[in-house]
Amino acid sequence: PPDAPTDHRAATDATARPEGGATVLVVGPGGREHALARALAQDPLVAAVHVAPGNPGAAEVATLHAVDTLDGTAVAALATRLGADLVVVGPEAPLVAGVADAVTAAGVPCFGPSREAARLEGSKAFAKEVMAAAGVPTAEARVCRTPDEVAAALDAFGAPYVVKDDGLAAGKGVVVTSDRQEALDHAAGCEQVVVEDYLDGPEVSLFAVTDGTTVVPLQPAQDFKRIGDGDTGPNTGGMGAYTPLPWAPAGLVEEVHRDVLQPTVDEMARRGTPFRGLLYAGLALTSRGTRVVEFNARFGDPETQALMALLDSSPYVLLHAAATGRLHEVPAPVWKPGAAVAVVMASAGYPASSSSGDVVVGTETLAADPAVHVVHAGTARDAEGRLVTAGGRVLAVTAVGSDLADARAKAYEGVHHVAFPGAQWRTDIAQAAAQAAGPSAAPTADL
Ligand code: AMP
Repeated sequence: PPDAPTDHRAATDATARPEGGATVLVVGPGGREHALARALAQDPLVAAVHVAPGNPGAAEVATLHAVDTLDGTAVAALATRLGADLVVVGPEAPLVAGVADAVTAAGVPCFGPSREAARLEGSKAFAKEVMAAAGVPTAEARVCRTPDEVAAALDAFGAPYVVKDDGLAAGKGVVVTSDRQEALDHAAGCEQVVVEDYLDGPEVSLFAVTDGTTVVPLQPAQDFKRIGDGDTGPNTGGMGAYTPLPWAPAGLVEEVHRDVLQPTVDEMARRGTPFRGLLYAGLALTSRGTRVVEFNARFGDPETQALMALLDSSPYVLLHAAATGRLHEVPAPVWKPGAAVAVVMASAGYPASSSSGDVVVGTETLAADPAVHVVHAGTARDAEGRLVTAGGRVLAVTAVGSDLADARAKAYEGVHHVAFPGAQWRTDIAQAAAQAAGPSAAPTADL
């Protein structure tokens, strides 16, 4: 039968397979959570997916619950009431607010780090300290609190200047500029900043699932942070992503596992604050070697949209094993051949502002094509039940193809079927990578 589970899905330990299928609660409002909920809903081991609060896309694959996701007590109570076998916390804010601690204290396995461990993302200064202690290669940096300290650090490192707000800023607290005044102005608006050396070279997102001891890297991905084609304009939460990276050097995943991920996880455990969940290493492949640009304590958005589209083994087994300290017991994730591309469509004014209430049409026309799906982020239903925009990043058209060029063509064809007033999207997601992987880059020695 076409729907029979494949062998690697079935090869799991019985404790990860509750009688009748697992119940999973995904916490968060956005595209990452819709992508996770969708992948979990397709997992034969999962009987029911719930999302709090979710969005109209998540509503198609899960039951939604209106809960304050920063309120750990409320999330834990919901998980208990649902009889959840697993809670997956999507965004950083609930993690930093201690939601995983509350869920774990209620006796429910939680995929997502404790408040203490989430400081790897919540404080850039803390992340730098852990990296130094673990010997992880990263940009040299200084933590600055006064304008004089900032000015001295800018001059010590030279242009281009990199100034980071030390707190959580949803990916928008970083300024990279050659304009010294702009760097000073950005710092003036923050309580504490990290000023650091500029890292050249392409960026890679490498996600790893960890139970605090064992580290399982996922497939590398790349996202596109700037609003404009050719990486121009201001930073955003992410305008698109693709996986895998045909241009990535051989051995990259093994190198980062050995030199970055495992030492960081070991250092967190040594401090008595083990990191359990998704460790996201943002890397720069510089002329002087691989360097960590940043750590995040959760799945990246929109890389997760592309990665979940290609995951061929059970997401439940992987995330549940991490949440229960048994990652060494389960098989490594399996990926579909080919590639996935996610193209974000943003509302008018993004990223400076966003536009709500613009009617979104065309998403239903994509439902017939199994290679393409729409992951909702900032969408809502209006009083008449119409799909409308409700945020900056509205949705991601996500496609799977035989290679990057094929996935990219399908994703952009999907984008042209979806419309709303003021919609903006980048036209160059995965373009350079698709070209590099194309026939012109193929070896010619055998011809
Ligand atoms: P972060 O929030 O630390 O990931 O920074 C957001 C983005 O700013 C990164 O994805 C990079 O594109 C850029 N960036 C951050 N740190 C550096 C650096 N040291 N050198 C160059 N670019 C950087």
